[in-house]
Amino acid sequence: MTTVAAYAAPAAKAPLERTTIERREVGEHDILIDIKFAGICHSDIHQAREGWGEAIFPMVPGHEIAGVVSEVGSGVTRFRVGDRVGVGCMVDSCRECDNCRAGLEQYCLNGATMTYNGIGRDGLPTQGGYARTIVVDENYVVRIPEGLSLDEAAPLLCAGITTYSPLRHWNAGPGKKVAVVGLGGLGHLAVKIAHALGAEVTVLSQSLRKKDDGLKLGADHYYATADPATFENLRGSLDLIVSTVSAPLDLGAYLSLLKTDGALVNVGAPEEPVSLNLFSVIGGRKTLAGSSIGGIRETQEMLDFCAEHGIGAEIELIGAAEINEAYERVLNSDVRYRFVIDTATI
Ligand SMILES: [Zn+2]
Ligand SMILES: [Zn+2]
Repeated sequence: MTTVAAYAAPAAKAPLERTTIERREVGEHDILIDIKFAGICHSDIHQAREGWGEAIFPMVPGHEIAGVVSEVGSGVTRFRVGDRVGVGCMVDSCRECDNCRAGLEQYCLNGATMTYNGIGRDGLPTQGGYARTIVVDENYVVRIPEGLSLDEAAPLLCAGITTYSPLRHWNAGPGKKVAVVGLGGLGHLAVKIAHALGAEVTVLSQSLRKKDDGLKLGADHYYATADPATFENLRGSLDLIVSTVSAPLDLGAYLSLLKTDGALVNVGAPEEPVSLNLFSVIGGRKTLAGSSIGGIRETQEMLDFCAEHGIGAEIELIGAAEINEAYERVLNSDVRYRFVIDTATI
């Protein structure tokens, strides 16, 4: 075991504080990553505050990890010391089930091992990216192309793949009208990616406060959902809606914006169950769906796509001492558009 500096929540809802954790020794197929940057994802806050149910403490959150390989195990073939790499929301899976074999490790039928707040194959709790280093099996590590800076790439490892995967799955592209609900950490990347895929992009945000940003990021249209006229004007006009918000939505109202056979895909998750009148999907053969991150192969594809199209996250770089304040600002939607921790400050 190696002792590593980290920032952890000692208990549910407690402020994060500097501490040390143990990382396992570098095994045959492992790589040791010198973490340079870690994004702050809304789900870090949900989990550190037990919003999604009982969690494991102390907890080092962080699943938007960008860094440089500093050691490789004897059996590692895909990476060398000095490579620029990323780790997202999972660090292992069973590798044998139908989904793992299909490259859908995020839907591993035996449960993927999450980067933090999970239990690793060694039976120990996993700890995430708010730390100086991490040890990960090479099969769950992706390469960050040279064209992307590490700080702007970090949020792609969760927010990027979370939006890229459903946009690809539901065929966002030329001739398709795609709406993104919420212009936050996930939403701003959804807009950039959907635009780069060639879709006509609409942002649906509570107000017009971020309209200028939205248009600059690549949106063609921008509407306030607080204005009832928005739902009248856009009725039946969209092929795909990707909702990135974690507040409960009036799903029926959003489904009414879809064309026949359109899909409303949720990548944000409210803490409470939601209700729906099923006539909202029966009329027009509509789909209400969800999507979770992406597989390892697709995550690499997303990074290559982003590098090719010059897509990085819009970030606010912070020191580790600012994490608790950043959490409050994320909850108040007061960040444009992702906090990234400079892990040298831990
Ligand atoms: Zn995340
Ligand atoms: Zn599996």
